[in-house]
Amino acid sequence: MGHKIAIYPGSFDPITYGHIDIIKRATVLFDEVIIAVALNISKKPLFSEAERMDMIREAVKDSPNIYVDSFRGLLVQYAREKGAQAVIRGLRAVSDFEYELQMAQVNRKLDENLITVFLMPHEKYSYLNSTIVKELAKFNGNISCFVPPHVEEKLIQKLRP
Ligand code: ADP
Repeated sequence: MGHKIAIYPGSFDPITYGHIDIIKRATVLFDEVIIAVALNISKKPLFSEAERMDMIREAVKDSPNIYVDSFRGLLVQYAREKGAQAVIRGLRAVSDFEYELQMAQVNRKLDENLITVFLMPHEKYSYLNSTIVKELAKFNGNISCFVPPHVEEKLIQKLRP
């Protein structure tokens, strides 16, 4: 059976309770989960690589077997380097499906041994994404039910001068 490693890639700009929900479910299935901040995404992030990684580290600091990393380039290449068997993705709603299916199929074409695993978050996070949290933070909306306190603090510092 061996040691099962999964990569959870994303922009995490910033990490939310939706991501954390998926991470917790993934740790039940895998011996090791690597949360990997993707750096080659075209959208311009609000937080730097180091800021995003620090916020993730703080959020998972009490969970063993979770590692935080970043990568550039092809996910399949990075997964191979890490010896991972699987990629974790969250599925919130039908709207996620088409893009996720396309990515999973392309990644399978590139490496048929890499398995994409989809996990559904608790329904209370199914409408949540990082963009919405940033918008709310900018306009003084309450975000304490969407992100951990340390992330809320960083958002307020960054978005409310
Ligand atoms: P976003 O769509 O918020 O910019 P990321 O690029 O950080 O997200 O997403 C990384 C992965 O986490 C994707 O598979 C995405 O579907 C998943 N994800 C993001 N937010 C949630 C959430 N609220 N519930 C479940 N999965 C989520």
